[in-house]
Amino acid sequence: MDNCIFCKIASGEIPAATLYEDDLFRVILDLGPASKGHALILPKNHYANLYEIPDEMVGKAMVLAKKMGTALKEALGCDGLNVVQNNGEAAGQTVFHFHMHLIPRYQDDQVGLSWTPGTLTDKMKAEVLEKVKKALG
Ligand code: 5GP
Ligand code: ZN
Repeated sequence: MDNCIFCKIASGEIPAATLYEDDLFRVILDLGPASKGHALILPKNHYANLYEIPDEMVGKAMVLAKKMGTALKEALGCDGLNVVQNNGEAAGQTVFHFHMHLIPRYQDDQVGLSWTPGTLTDKMKAEVLEKVKKALG
């Protein structure tokens, strides 16, 4: 993808603060961190989102999230860790190259990753169960 910033960062064409690199992934520090140590896991190949990334790659990305999350916890002494992965503009995705956020959390930090719980009504439950099971085939 010629115009993709994360392709350029992942390939090394554009420099970034790299915590880890192998033949498939680069892990960098986010330029606009939610907290100290906020990192991004980037596959070196371009996949726009979770729907497009192959199964074996997304599996490896999760294994890497475990490795990096453990290192962040040990190195920075964070009290928690959010693994966040946005798909589509409506979900807050701004860079359309698959990536996973690793966001170290510290007691009483003001990082806002919460929502107001709604209510699972019987109608909603019935509709969603029916439609998603149909989609799964
Ligand atoms: P999204 O909102 O798509 O899930 O996340 C994109 C993330 O990439 C944001 O947290 C943003 O701060 C980060 N970001 C955008 N451009 C750059 C960049 O050029 N370098 C780095 N290191 N992070 C970037
Ligand atoms: Zn890309």
